[in-house]
Amino acid sequence: MHKLLVTGGAGFIGANFVHYWLSHYPQDRVVVLDALTYAGNMASLAGCLEQENFRFVHGDIGDQDLVETLLAEEGLDTVVNFAAESHVDRSIHGPDPFVTTNVVGTHSLLKAAKKVWLDGGGQPHRFHHVSTDEVYGSLTSEEPPFTETSAYAPNSPYSASKAASDHLVRAYHHTYGLEVTTSNCSNNYGPYQFPEKLIPLIILNILEAKPLPIYGDGLNIRDWLYVEDHCRGIDLVLHKGRVGEVYNIGGNNEWRNIEIVRLVCSLVDEGIAASESLRQRFPHSPVCLGHTAESLITFVKDRPGHDRRYAIDAVKSRSELGYAPQESFETGIRKTIDWYLANEAWWRGVMNGSYRDWLKKQYEY
Ligand code: NAD
Repeated sequence: MHKLLVTGGAGFIGANFVHYWLSHYPQDRVVVLDALTYAGNMASLAGCLEQENFRFVHGDIGDQDLVETLLAEEGLDTVVNFAAESHVDRSIHGPDPFVTTNVVGTHSLLKAAKKVWLDGGGQPHRFHHVSTDEVYGSLTSEEPPFTETSAYAPNSPYSASKAASDHLVRAYHHTYGLEVTTSNCSNNYGPYQFPEKLIPLIILNILEAKPLPIYGDGLNIRDWLYVEDHCRGIDLVLHKGRVGEVYNIGGNNEWRNIEIVRLVCSLVDEGIAASESLRQRFPHSPVCLGHTAESLITFVKDRPGHDRRYAIDAVKSRSELGYAPQESFETGIRKTIDWYLANEAWWRGVMNGSYRDWLKKQYEY
């Protein structure tokens, strides 16, 4: 039986991880620590709050006293650190919170873990840090995918702050013996993703017949992974990963942005065309007005320093941990679209005034 502190558990991947963990390991205890920034949403934890082995704590990973108290009083033996500022565009407009949470906050968590777990006499523990493939920089179309030994070359304030946190996690292992693992993952998609990110943004804009903004020429390439496959990968790292090691988790699933947008357009059109009740709920969607969703595609000025391509080589995770993604891209995208269509109250709830103000700013460079 394990007792986990899941930081950022009210965010996209963190909430999916909490649902995954409680259903796979019902004997474990899960404590979520989340500051409930714009990206955190209690509604994403619906169904968990009533469970006896679950506790939600509203707080900041930078509050070292709070984290020490939680680790000690709850007897927690595992930290899974999802808490972060995670949106590249926001990091370009305002990098400060990225440094505060991703760098200083992660360091504060490490200090708390060291103090309670190591300085307190030593006890079995694991500090797992969730990171991104963006720390490795950008690839040309000819270069091989990133491995765990690729040099770090972060290009945005977001990826630079994540790179700094990865280095601190590594240093706490090498210097103090903290038992850490790190996973670097490619782009996730699935339920509960905040609608500023590409796939939910496109789905929801189609439903309201708003432009579908595509940066630059739309040919930037990302590797995409269904969020539950990421959760499964972290589970494998926690159970089978070697302490001090880094594992890349990827989908082996590279897509150009424009291709993804076209796929989402055709699947949303198809779904709405086939359903009378969806046509009634979303009467402004293009298919109801005799257009295709693709007609909404609008190319916008590129993001400064936009990385061209990310790709992950997950051979180490496959050979050491037996990791393989289980969801195909088409079924994963269909499930994601169905989830947004079925959970209108969730996304209407997060699209408040400040989100709408941000969206206006997001594409202004
Ligand atoms: P998210 O923005 O959806 O959620 C982040 C969560 O962290 C929110 O609930 C927020 O309230 C919380 N948070 C922010 N600052 C905090 C603080 N100081 N203290 C406590 N909680 C705080 O992010 P996500 O997409 O779920 O990403 C989770 C992690 O996975 C991040 O570390 C991110 O770098 C990494 N990651 C994300 C992706 C992706 O595609 N989304 C890919 C690879 C890695």
